[in-house]
Amino acid sequence: MDFSLTEDQQLMVDGFTELMNSEAWEKYFHECDENSEYPERWVKAICDLGFDRILLPEEYDGLGLGWQTLAAAYEALGRAGGPTHVLYQLPGWDTVIREGTEEQKKDILKFVGSGKQMLNYAMTEPSAGSSWDDMSTTYSRKGGKVYLNGHKTFITSSMKVPYLVVMARDADNMGTYTEWFVDMSLPGITKEPLHKLGLRMDSCADIYFDNVELREEDLFGTEGNGFKRGVKDFDLERFEVAMTNYGTAYCAFEDAAKYANQRVQGGEAIARKQLIQLKFADMKVDITNMRNMLYEIAWKADNDQLGRGDCSMAKYYCSHAAARVVDNALQTLAGVGVTGEHRVQRFYRDLRVDRVSGGTDEMMILAAGRGALRDYRS
Ligand SMILES: Cc1cc2nc3c(=O)[nH]c(=O)nc-3n(C[C@H](O)[C@H](O)[C@H](O)COP(=O)(O)OP(=O)(O)OC[C@H]3O[C@@H](n4cnc5c(N)ncnc54)[C@H](O)[C@@H]3O)c2cc1C
Repeated sequence: MDFSLTEDQQLMVDGFTELMNSEAWEKYFHECDENSEYPERWVKAICDLGFDRILLPEEYDGLGLGWQTLAAAYEALGRAGGPTHVLYQLPGWDTVIREGTEEQKKDILKFVGSGKQMLNYAMTEPSAGSSWDDMSTTYSRKGGKVYLNGHKTFITSSMKVPYLVVMARDADNMGTYTEWFVDMSLPGITKEPLHKLGLRMDSCADIYFDNVELREEDLFGTEGNGFKRGVKDFDLERFEVAMTNYGTAYCAFEDAAKYANQRVQGGEAIARKQLIQLKFADMKVDITNMRNMLYEIAWKADNDQLGRGDCSMAKYYCSHAAARVVDNALQTLAGVGVTGEHRVQRFYRDLRVDRVSGGTDEMMILAAGRGALRDYRS
């Protein structure tokens, strides 16, 4: 399988690399992380280079490219230390184009190129995390209007996004799960920010809906199809999480390699010590495996061959492999890594959160296991 980039893909990647080298972004990222702020200036700059248009179809003024190009973009940005975890919603236009009404599409597509946060999806509740069976947010109809009541938790980007797609159950028929396209400025919505171990450049919050009045036109997709819609679109998000894990690990690996070659102890560079070389051998194995797995999955997605469980497998594998790499990098950097403000500290915190958000390790294992067994059913 040939994973080399086409001329156009290479041009795009070169643009991202040049942007990352054009200023000392790390100072800005560090400030955003410290202040739990979305790095909008950086996101705008990469959108100016077409990042959010990669998967957008040409008829919507997009580039109509595929997952392989997206992978190359994530790799270039992550390798240079970009906080790519804030980008997960940007390539996901397919959901809005497929499920949205003309009005909803217009509301969201106007954000193309802006770098602003526009939309996220709210399923999780205090009593409904890995399993949605105990979801208690409901919608009910009265006098031609729809009323939303409930409490969602751990919702990414929700302090900033103007729209949230909220999953709720029909109060008169709790077996019906439906999504609603909710304007976050409506009366009856309260937000409470949550503090996180990592991934701090994106907000996370509890959201309360108290008799929020919606219109029938705010239905997102098909009534009763909410559960199925969510499961289908998880693949792209899981792939993006895995790409972020890989890019972050690549960056930590290169920081550590440069340091190991110049840090002298006992009269020679620590890179010459065999115990340090062992770490680099392990790191290289992890990075190579992540890259090969991710580019193969991207190729499969672009060629309609994506297997059930492939993206769950990638999220599970890459979040662990990247954590091993970052841990080895931190050990190589030693005192310089664990004190001060080295970016590898941030990576260490960020990666741990990724084993929970977007679906836990355990859920990824179950999905990957089911996918693996499906191929051998008679
Ligand atoms: C930073 C962050 C951002 C998030 N963003 C969003 C968002 O934007 N939108 C959204 O809807 N949700 C979001 N989530 C929610 C996330 O998807 C849930 O946290 C996750 O699904 C787990 O739910 P929980 O934390 O309630 O854990 P629980 O489901 O209570 O699980 C606790 C533990 O039990 C394990 N477990 C549960 N069931 C099983 C089982 N059947 N077999 C084996 N083990 C099991 C879990 O894997 C975990 O280890 C986010 C979470 C975080 C932390």
